[in-house]
Parts: sequence; structure tokens; C-alpha cells
Amino acid sequence: MTLDRETKLDQQLNGHPILQCLNPASGSVLKELAISSSEEVNEKVEIAREAAAEWRQLSVRHRAKFIRKAQKVLVSRMDEVVEVVLSETGKTEFDGIIEILTTLEIMRFNRKMAPRALAPEVRPLGLVVKNKRGWVHYRPHGVVGAISPWNYPLIQPSILVVPALLAGNGIVLKPSEFTPLTALKMKEIFDEAGMPEGVFQIVIGSGEVGKTLVESSGTDLIAFTGSINVGRKIAVSCAEQLKPVILELGGKDPLIVLRDANLKRAAGAAVWSGFHNAGQTCISVERVYVEEPVVDEFIRLVTEMTEAVRTGDDQAVSDFGSMTTETQFRKVMAQLDDARSKGANVLKQDEPQAEGMFIQPTIVTDTEVNMELMKEEIFGPVIAISRVRNEDEAIEQANSMKFGLNASIFTRDKRKARRLASRVQAGNIVINDVETNYLCVDVPFGGMKQSGIGRLHGIEGLRSFSQIQSVIEHRFGLNKELWWFPVANGTKKLFRVLIRILYG
Ligand code: NAD
Repeated sequence: MTLDRETKLDQQLNGHPILQCLNPASGSVLKELAISSSEEVNEKVEIAREAAAEWRQLSVRHRAKFIRKAQKVLVSRMDEVVEVVLSETGKTEFDGIIEILTTLEIMRFNRKMAPRALAPEVRPLGLVVKNKRGWVHYRPHGVVGAISPWNYPLIQPSILVVPALLAGNGIVLKPSEFTPLTALKMKEIFDEAGMPEGVFQIVIGSGEVGKTLVESSGTDLIAFTGSINVGRKIAVSCAEQLKPVILELGGKDPLIVLRDANLKRAAGAAVWSGFHNAGQTCISVERVYVEEPVVDEFIRLVTEMTEAVRTGDDQAVSDFGSMTTETQFRKVMAQLDDARSKGANVLKQDEPQAEGMFIQPTIVTDTEVNMELMKEEIFGPVIAISRVRNEDEAIEQANSMKFGLNASIFTRDKRKARRLASRVQAGNIVINDVETNYLCVDVPFGGMKQSGIGRLHGIEGLRSFSQIQSVIEHRFGLNKELWWFPVANGTKKLFRVLIRILYG
């Protein structure tokens, strides 16, 4: 077990140019990588810019063919990639397979949709300008600086890299300092698929390297997925540079259970969403609001299902993996201590904890709003269950925080659920289900409130990596427009008549 991983990392980053990649479940050193210097970051941005100049000239269909090849290579090298993911995250084998599945779905959707989503559109124009023709074009930004977190080391970089490339950009990715090996494996896969040299670059290191990428004069768009705190710093830096930015940030997602819900399904959803990937998912359920008449039965079901979760350090059979970072491990423990000290009921499984950074699946009841776990994202295997009098109180509680990423509503009355969805302040709503919206890549994904700016997935996601350009073309060979100098005598009268006819 390695509880001094971050300390080691800090030491390394203070002047030592080497990043040690560690297995969080065992503490063993997997590999040592050179940390990218500022010069190297800027150089890679420039290489990507030069390569992107040719890449953008290819048709979208042509670019999509490379993604199709990469998709095939990923399928053929699936086991090797899963092994790397497991080794640097401590995930279970099934969570590793989910990384592959979701990434393939991201590749499939984006490559198929890109030719349509990024094609120039002809826009019909108003009567006054009938002698013009108008188009909307989706042009690449240039070089995208992408920064990703550790919790899904393949999915999170892919959701930035794939649409950015399809939109004709070059890309420089800085993966999390905790999971660079998966990103390097991903690059190998793109290289094997024949991606033109230089278009896709990776830089290695922690926040300092990310900061250089944001501040590098060569990046034209920053696409960031990570915490609110870092997202805010990046937003400030981009604001100063007037550089566009996409931010996919943290959540503290509510699940609302109404009295008429299928309680077994709702409880199963809460347990799976709260605990899979050891709760280290931006859209995992952290807060559950249950209507009073069914709350006791709901807690009974959740407790029973939690007891059935297979824990332990055998990644092949366990439902439940290790925490990936020591900071996260400590943060979860501190929030649980805080909740306990303020009177919450913290229910844990009795089974002994495995060696390593494992935290047992934990249910918390009798929560109060002053508890840290009811204020901040916990990002660990903990669900807090609160009772509410009615649906209005459930919505009020769900909306009571700065976060607005995902939310779930469980009720048998689907009309009511759709109505309530419009009152929940979250970018993504799931009715009688949890988290599946992330696999529904046709629909946009992103946060309201402080959970983010911009959208990934869907047509909107592809267009997030494009600059919109409108082109207006004059159609006929007239020498002048009516409003150009000199304005003819009858023009004022003509315009008055036109205004009355068109807008009166
Ligand atoms: P983090 O914000 O600490 O780090 C994310 C990335 O930013 C890392 O690569 C890190 O090295 C880099 N970074 C740190 N400081 C930087 C700086 N000043 N400038 C530029 N880059 C910097 O987040 P994390 O701990 O890696 O990931 C967990 C967080 O990510 C959680 O809050 C989770 O909810 C969020 N997340 C959100 C989504 C989403 O789609 N909304 C998806 C996954 C994770």
C-alpha cells in the first residue's frame, strides 16, 4: 500500500524531471517517464500546428477513416489496454472493459456523425437580402490543448481527442499525472491506425505542465475535464488571453426517489452508481432524496444490496476497486469523519478492508447541510440518503448546490418525471436510470451552474471543437446596392413601403 504517492510526486515535480507511474492497489512502480519541460510543451504545440495545416485540408470523411482504423486497432488490442488501465487506476476488470466499450462508442458515433455535423449548411435568407446566398461553416480552431483527469484514463482523453481531430484540429493532450500510461497506449493505437505524424501529441506531467499548455501562445482552444477548482483557474487564464475554453467539471449528483417508484430498481441504481469505479465518477450518485413514505424500505433495500457488493483486491472478481489517488482517499475519509462527528449515521460493511487504498461501500443517513459531504463533491464510494416530504422539497434539495451535472428521477409516472426534469438544474437528466446518458453519445453532455461550460457528445460536442464562420455571397451582377452612396431619391419611399409590407 502506498499512502505517500502524492508526496513522492511533489518531490519529483520539485526539480526532478521524472514521473514515477505507480500501481495504486499495490504501490509498485510501473514505469518512469520524463516530465515535459515548458520548451517541449511549446515545441509539441508548434509541431501539432504544422501537422494540422495539412490535416485540416483532408475531407471530414477522410479524417473519419483514421478514427475507424483506430477503433479497429483498439478492439484488437483491448486486453492490453485494459491491463494498463487496471494497473494505474486500481479499477476492477469490468470497469476496465467499460472504458473500452465507452471509448469505442465515442469513436463510432463521432466518426459517423462528423461528416454531417461539420458539413457547411446553406441558410435560407430573409426577403430583403434575397439576392445573397448564405452558408455556415465549421472551421477548425487550430491546435487544441486537452487536459484530462485520472478517473477514466481512456474515456476522458478520447472524448476530447476524437472530436477535436475529426473537426480538423491538431491536439496536444496532457493526461493526468496519475494515469499517463493509458494515454500513451492510446497514442500508440492512433499511430498504428496511421494517423499523420505530429497531429496528435502528448505531454507528460502535473498541473504545471497543464498550465504551460493553457498559457502557450500556440493553443487556440482549451478543452479541460477535471475539478471545479482547477477549471476556475483555467477559465481565468483563458479569459485573460480571450482563448475559448470548454470545461467539464465536477458534480454532486442527486437521485430523486418518489413514493410510486420501482424501489428495487431505484435502490439498485443508487448502489451501482454510488459504488462502481469506487465512486470516482463525475456523474455518480452522491445524494439520494427519498419521499418519506418509502424511505425506510429504500434504505433497507440499499443496505441489503450494498452487502452483496463483492469487495476485495482481486480485480477479476471484485465489483469494487481501489481509490486511485491518495489525496482522494484522504478526502473521502475526512468527509466521513466530519459527517460522523456532526451526528450522521455512517453505515459500512463489516468485511475487513483489503490492503491498499480501498474504502468500503458506505451509506450515510441522518445528514445535515453543514456536513462537508453535503456541500462538496466526495468522489468516493459514499451515498448520502435524505428523507424529503414531497417532490417539491426533493427538487429544492437537488437544486440547492453549486453543482449541476447529472440528476436522476425515479417514478412510475413518466409524465411527472418529464415535468420535474424541467425543474432540475442539471445539464443531464436520466429518468428511471443512472449514468446511461454517458453511453448515449448522440445527446450532448455537460454541466449547468459550476459543473461546466460547453458540451461534449452529440452534434454539439463535435461543433464545440469548431469555429463557426458564416459566409454571405452576393448572387447577381449589380453594380451597387440600393443603400450604397449615392442613395437614389425614390429609395426612402420604397423602403417605407417594404417595411410596411414585410413587418407591419
Ligand atoms: P484535477 O482538476 O485535479 O486535474 C485534472 C487535470 O488538470 C490533471 O491532468 C491535472 O494535472 C491538471 N491540472 C491541475 N492543475 C492545473 C492547472 N493549474 N492548469 C492546467 N491543468 C492543471 O481533477 P482530477 O482529480 O484529475 O479529476 C477529478 C475531477 O474531475 C472531479 O472533480 C470529477 O468530477 C471531474 N470530472 C469531470 C468529468 C466531466 O465530464 N464533467 C469527467 C471526469 C472527471
